[in-house]
Amino acid sequence: MPQSNPRGTRIAHIGLAVTSIEGLLPLYRDVLGMPEVPLDDADGARIAGLAAGESLVELLESADPGSPIGKFIAKRGPGIHHVCFAVDDLDGSLERCRAAGIRLIDEVPRLGAEKKRIAFLHPASTGGVLVELMEY
Ligand code: ZN
Repeated sequence: MPQSNPRGTRIAHIGLAVTSIEGLLPLYRDVLGMPEVPLDDADGARIAGLAAGESLVELLESADPGSPIGKFIAKRGPGIHHVCFAVDDLDGSLERCRAAGIRLIDEVPRLGAEKKRIAFLHPASTGGVLVELMEY
């Protein structure tokens, strides 16, 4: 089997669904000492990035009740929304997911908040965790 992931799959970020970014920034930034990383808003959510080593924590606040984060919070309350893994070859990773029968939310990669190619896997195929794959 070809080695398509020479750097190995890494944790890129953990997405937390929050009701108020401002309410939680003091904890993550000031108390826990995680520097802020500017990120664009995406998918109807305001996003605050906080560096945790080579990974990020993303605070996701709904800017629209109909957005994925808005619906998530309405249904389940705030909490861990998704885990994002960095891969070297997103197309290859998606091909392997397809071959393994994993249900994809994004059949075709798109650009995410960090301006990198992303695709989500469906929680029904991942043990109940929304998994994002990001190429870099
Ligand atoms: Zn994400």
